[in-house]
Amino acid sequence: MTNPTPFTSEEEELAELDMEASRPTLDDVNAEVEIFDAVRGQSAFPVQPVRLTPEDTFSFRCHPELSCWNKCCHGADITLTPFDILRLSRRLGIRPAEFLVEYTVPAIHDKADLPIAKLRSGGEDGRGACPFNAPEGCTVYEDRPATCRYYPLGMVSMKMKDMEGKDDFFFLVKEVHCQGHCDAKTQNVGQFRAEQRVEDDERVNRGWIDILMKMASWKVLGGPMGKAPDPRTKKMFFMATTDVDAFRRFVFETRFLETYDIAPDAVEIVRTDDEALLLLAFDWLKNVLFNEPTIALREQVLQQAIAKARDSMGAA
Ligand code: SF4
Ligand code: SF4
Repeated sequence: MTNPTPFTSEEEELAELDMEASRPTLDDVNAEVEIFDAVRGQSAFPVQPVRLTPEDTFSFRCHPELSCWNKCCHGADITLTPFDILRLSRRLGIRPAEFLVEYTVPAIHDKADLPIAKLRSGGEDGRGACPFNAPEGCTVYEDRPATCRYYPLGMVSMKMKDMEGKDDFFFLVKEVHCQGHCDAKTQNVGQFRAEQRVEDDERVNRGWIDILMKMASWKVLGGPMGKAPDPRTKKMFFMATTDVDAFRRFVFETRFLETYDIAPDAVEIVRTDDEALLLLAFDWLKNVLFNEPTIALREQVLQQAIAKARDSMGAA
């Protein structure tokens, strides 16, 4: 894994964004982003074209007696969330940098055009078994990725025109090999999500989902405020969302804390708390990418950046 990029000129970037308020806005944009696409098998994407709410019911039960047992853990297409990487690294007793090298392949999130990590399947063509698959089932079951927890549901985050916030909905994936759909057990989406214990995933990953969602919305306008993120910003996004140790070095070994106004007690928490550090990473990325007020520049830094930006625009 790469070392963190040296902290250079986010304050200049921010001031520049501030000066570009006349560029296109998100007001006229609709966007839907698949977060957990639920494709674990090898068939085409057999989504039931129905938007499910937490109250909607479906029949499904997965168990080892089924003839399809483990089939869905071969050639799986699994996007790893920031929390997945953290939780699986802990489970394996390694740090995220090692986990990324050993178990993932880099990829690009189609709609957001941002770098992500996917779980690497075995086999030369990448369609073999998941590294955590065993005859008895998933060897990391309690800590399996969110996509595996959700299966056979997918989740879409959605923002519609004129809608202040965003909305999530779910859909059912019926892959032909999956016998679980033939079981009589019926549950509603909310019960299934509670059984799969997805709340922690969603609590920690929410900021990351927001960023993917917002970036997908901006993409049709060329990027945030009409400008696509440069390669360095994308590299920072990948570092901050996949490797908490690299982001921690970025926070504590660069001018980050001289630049941003972070409460002293929060600084002490993120020194050791990986989940809290991820939340800080998401806040920082929202600020850098979208100029959101999720993290504040120190007053002196802000004034200097504004003065510099005005100067460069000839508005002394
Ligand atoms: S993590 Fe577990 S459930 Fe998910 S694909 Fe691998 S073996 Fe299957
Ligand atoms: S029932 Fe579906 S999810 Fe369970 S093992 Fe079979 S294919 Fe996989």
